[in-house]
Amino acid sequence: MVRRQIRKACRKCKSIIDKGGVCPTCGSTDLSIKWDGILMVIDPEKALPAKELEITEKGSYAVRVL
Ligand SMILES: [Zn+2]
Repeated sequence: MVRRQIRKACRKCKSIIDKGGVCPTCGSTDLSIKWDGILMVIDPEKALPAKELEITEKGSYAVRVL
């Protein structure tokens, strides 16, 4: 099975974008194909890593965007 993952991450808000060239969260087109780690945020109010990354919306985020 060939695993092709070319998802991008937004450099501004770190959202992981499944397709398209625009971040649905912040509308930025500054996307990177180089990113590390996925952080699933279900409850941004309670999740500590979400606070550190200044995430306010639930969803999938890259821990590190290069
Ligand atoms: Zn964004």
